[in-house]
Amino acid sequence: MGEMILLGTGTSHGVPVIGCRCPVCRSDDPRNKRTRTGVAVTAAEGTFLIDTSPELRIQLLREKIDLVHAAIYTHSHADHLFGLDDLRLFGYYLKRPVPLYCEEIVEQQIRAAYWYAFTPPAPDLHQGAIPMLEIKRIGLEPFELLGETVRPIRLWHGKLGVLGFRIRDVAFCTDVSRIPEESFPLLEGLETLVIDALRDAPHATHFGIPQALEVAERVRPQRTYLTHMSHHLDYAATNARLPKGVELAYDGLRIPL
Ligand SMILES: [Zn+2]
Ligand SMILES: [Zn+2]
Ligand SMILES: [Zn+2]
Repeated sequence: MGEMILLGTGTSHGVPVIGCRCPVCRSDDPRNKRTRTGVAVTAAEGTFLIDTSPELRIQLLREKIDLVHAAIYTHSHADHLFGLDDLRLFGYYLKRPVPLYCEEIVEQQIRAAYWYAFTPPAPDLHQGAIPMLEIKRIGLEPFELLGETVRPIRLWHGKLGVLGFRIRDVAFCTDVSRIPEESFPLLEGLETLVIDALRDAPHATHFGIPQALEVAERVRPQRTYLTHMSHHLDYAATNARLPKGVELAYDGLRIPL
């Protein structure tokens, strides 16, 4: 029995926001502390990540995840990518490269940002100094990973095409401002939908709560969790006004697969 563990549920600044004194940023509620968005999936044959947030190390320690076998990417924005170097340890533990499943545009950005992992190591470097990585190009075809079938879902994040992923009857759709018509069949019959909802007001590259609720009303999952939230949304106050079956997610939430 696998789980999807929400490692982080915050927007790109995280919550609290550095320098902000708003009630949410000053709140004592642990559910108002949001690290950058990403998830871990415990599959039959190992654990894989969706995205590698800048707080990946802290998230894995917090959730007591000792080993990661692979990562898949929604897109390459900094808040979803820049914990990648922390995968270094897993190549060392596994004694093989860690596979990164991504689209071509993400691959180009990973190779540019992490150039040192894709060039011959300098002679003075010790073993384990740079990550051992292996890029696995994906498109919209389902693929097998660690005993699970992963189904990519095309989403639009402003003008950028990104991927959501469905694993069994759980779908993770972050950083989305539009779901194209052809992607809706992939969201049929869901037990749980995890979907972007930055704040109440609409945004050029993210759903607000009203847009996320429209999607939930259309695809009718049994449960909907909102993620990638800003400091405009207080956990308790927002949950109190959401319709039945829809809740804000929080860091550490575990969803059975
Ligand atoms: Zn993001
Ligand atoms: Zn704030
Ligand atoms: Zn993004």
